[in-house]
Amino acid sequence: DAAIYLFVRVARLGSRYILLLAEDRTESYRLEEVRRDFVANISHELKTPIGAISLLAEALETASDEPDQVTRFAKRLTKESERLGHITQEIIELSRLQAADALTRAEPVDVDQLVAVAVDQNRVVADARKITLVSGGDKGAEVYGDETLLVTALHNLIANAIQYSPDGSRVGIGVTQTDGIVEIAVTDQGVGIPEDELDRVFERFFRSDPARSRNTGGTGLGLSIVKHVVQNHGGDIRVWSQTGKGSTFTIRLPEAASASGAALGA
Ligand code: ADP
Repeated sequence: DAAIYLFVRVARLGSRYILLLAEDRTESYRLEEVRRDFVANISHELKTPIGAISLLAEALETASDEPDQVTRFAKRLTKESERLGHITQEIIELSRLQAADALTRAEPVDVDQLVAVAVDQNRVVADARKITLVSGGDKGAEVYGDETLLVTALHNLIANAIQYSPDGSRVGIGVTQTDGIVEIAVTDQGVGIPEDELDRVFERFFRSDPARSRNTGGTGLGLSIVKHVVQNHGGDIRVWSQTGKGSTFTIRLPEAASASGAALGA
């Protein structure tokens, strides 16, 4: 909405003049609102598994005579605590990324290696769904940055591509190197994202309706983490998508030579 927050100070100058000082505080109000929403969302996301865990523990106590039930409750207990662990890890990761203005560790990173590692990490899940992971494109590209963070970012994109795709489909990971920019595109043949939600997918905790209704157990933090990693590396991320056809997420990073030069102030 279009509200503007003005902070007004009034001072009397002698008996004839009044001094009015108006300061536009719209931005700091907006940031405060974002922070409040974030905390509210975190509380909500944590309360759900914690509530489930205490209910299951209670049920486990009374079910001690029935081995079948005990096994069932114990399995769900494991699943809920894994979910809690996953959410906590993502929240910590995101907070760390948001706090860091610049990278603490930066070194030349081999893009072929980056793609190979992120693809490998997703192999088991893809195989289980008979989804083929195909990587290709320019070889030998190098970017400058924190390899662990970059792997996490690419991992998240590939994991999403698998998550939101039908069994037996294809996920492509393509590298292009042009004019000092390295582009890594992850393309799927999945459910796609409704047009009016495209610019919201990078928001913290945002999940589109199809994703929610499929109950994939996501947190809505994955893309937000990707965006922060890419931005911390001086790059950007774009998305193209059509519902029912699929999506392409493209990250663009400065090539190693130009990036390290910029970082050194050259
Ligand atoms: P999560 O996957 O945990 O819900 P993300 O931040 O990774 O959270 O993604 C946010 C939302 O963006 C998802 O809930 C989903 O609606 C949408 N999305 C992300 N990647 C894809 C994709 N490859 N295809 C379709 N929708 C996607």
